[in-house]
Amino acid sequence: MYDLIIIGGGPAGITAGIYAHRYKLNCAVISDVYGGLVNTAHLVDNYPGMPEMSGMDMMKAWKDHAEKMGVQLKQTSVKDISKNEDNTFKITTGNEEIQTKCIILALGTQQKKLNIPGEDQFSGKGVSYCYTCDAPLFSGRDVVVAGCSNSAAYAALLLTEYANKVYLVFEKETMDADPSKVDEVNANDKIELVPSKTVKEIKGDMMVSSVVLNDDSELKVDGIFVEMGKVPSTVFTQKLGVEMDAQHFIKVNDKQETNIENIYAAGDITTSSGGLRQIITASSEGAIAAFTAFKKIRSGQ
Ligand SMILES: Cc1cc2nc3c(=O)[nH]c(=O)nc-3n(C[C@H](O)[C@H](O)[C@H](O)COP(=O)(O)OP(=O)(O)OC[C@H]3O[C@@H](n4cnc5c(N)ncnc54)[C@H](O)[C@@H]3O)c2cc1C
Repeated sequence: MYDLIIIGGGPAGITAGIYAHRYKLNCAVISDVYGGLVNTAHLVDNYPGMPEMSGMDMMKAWKDHAEKMGVQLKQTSVKDISKNEDNTFKITTGNEEIQTKCIILALGTQQKKLNIPGEDQFSGKGVSYCYTCDAPLFSGRDVVVAGCSNSAAYAALLLTEYANKVYLVFEKETMDADPSKVDEVNANDKIELVPSKTVKEIKGDMMVSSVVLNDDSELKVDGIFVEMGKVPSTVFTQKLGVEMDAQHFIKVNDKQETNIENIYAAGDITTSSGGLRQIITASSEGAIAAFTAFKKIRSGQ
């Protein structure tokens, strides 16, 4: 019987693991991938003390830190969580069943899809959800970025290092990104803003050859990067009865407690930190969740 199982190995989960280990809890962090979404960040430039670091390098340093301290990391996917009669939990992974007193859900989010014709058909054939992974494949090509957030701005700016032309298509009249990023986008000659429009279809033969907009105009492009925001994973939360908001983010209090006893949540999957979903807030929530779990376990209730 573990004291605590942390599910998710992004900034929230790794930090929770480090704190729980220092509290001498019998604990493990389970994640299919370590580093989480930060692995896809080309450059992180807002984490204090680590200027201009690639997301991948940053998360390798975090994982190395946890491993060096002796935090138990289990690299596998969680398939199921069920509640036992005595208020403990059974966690099923691909290869074992684990019993634990407490859980921290730090599962993060996934990219929202456009859900339009051609999207699934051309996924990996011109449709991409990871600009840091795929931008170099579009050297000298024309591409679309769908979205208007910070991620969309970052995607468009990075793509200009490779692509010939980048269309930034978004439904709103103006972008939602940080003002400094909007300035950078506006100053870049390779980016053409296409506001007040949506992409309604992706066309091609073997690979993407164009996208159709909602006014039936067509942009001849070789790729489309989908940056429509993120959705939290609801696989376990619904089954366990964990309370969520209308967008399915887990509701927590300022101790990272959910409505279910002994289940805590941290990071992008929660409603915490005023909706600021960043490395620093995910990490902070992970630390608080581990602290709350520690106090609960020490109290012996
Ligand atoms: C392209 C991009 C650039 C970004 N740049 C910045 C930046 O510069 N600065 C900044 O502060 N933030 C940035 N962010 C945001 C930052 O990445 C997130 O806020 C942060 O990663 C959230 O951490 P998390 O631990 O909550 O979740 P995540 O990082 O999403 O980690 C969750 C982990 O849980 C794992 N998981 C999910 N389900 C299961 C399961 N069933 N079994 C096992 N494991 C599971 C996932 O695989 C993942 O590894 C960026 C995000 C993106 C996408």
